[in-house]
Amino acid sequence: MKVGVLALQGDFLEHEKMLNAVGAEAVEVRLPEHLNGLEALIIPGGESTTIGKLASKYRLVEPLREFATQKPVWGTCAGMIFLAKDIGREQPLLGLMDIKVNRNAFGRQINSFEADLDIQGIEGGPFHAVFIRAPLVTQVDANAGVEVLARLDDGGIVAVRQGHLLATAFHPELTSDTRLHEYFLKLATLSVR
Ligand code: GLN
Repeated sequence: MKVGVLALQGDFLEHEKMLNAVGAEAVEVRLPEHLNGLEALIIPGGESTTIGKLASKYRLVEPLREFATQKPVWGTCAGMIFLAKDIGREQPLLGLMDIKVNRNAFGRQINSFEADLDIQGIEGGPFHAVFIRAPLVTQVDANAGVEVLARLDDGGIVAVRQGHLLATAFHPELTSDTRLHEYFLKLATLSVR
């Protein structure tokens, strides 16, 4: 299966390695035509303002929106921000998921942390999650079909799914745990087009 990784900025290489580890072919996406023939797409962590600006510059915003109407897209950290409809400030967004997200919700780089999460749909025990200047989901529209997949101990929402769109506030690509990448590939296999 060919899975794209948006490769404008951020830790796209780590996602490519994870995809290869779970038996998928990773394709770097920098221009609209790179989306052709892909089954799914990952938007990596990085800096959402930079990813947004570059996506606008390379005329990727509309093609990405179009792609996401048909095929699974997963955003991690900055990718989650880029997928959200509302982040309470102006910056280029795909605006595809009915979630409200607070950027840098835990403070600065120094406030980065790790936590063991129970994630709905992920078997085999807690998932060790790495949060780096992470966003937090502050609101989900359940009527629009957004499901909460994981919360921190204090209730903060850090993983959500809306149909074939997936968003995580943390970075599974920075661990050796491939379960979320496998979960995403399963979404891609099951998704109705
Ligand atoms: N703080 C970054 C942003 O606002 C996200 C950080 C990350 O992707 N690790 O875009």
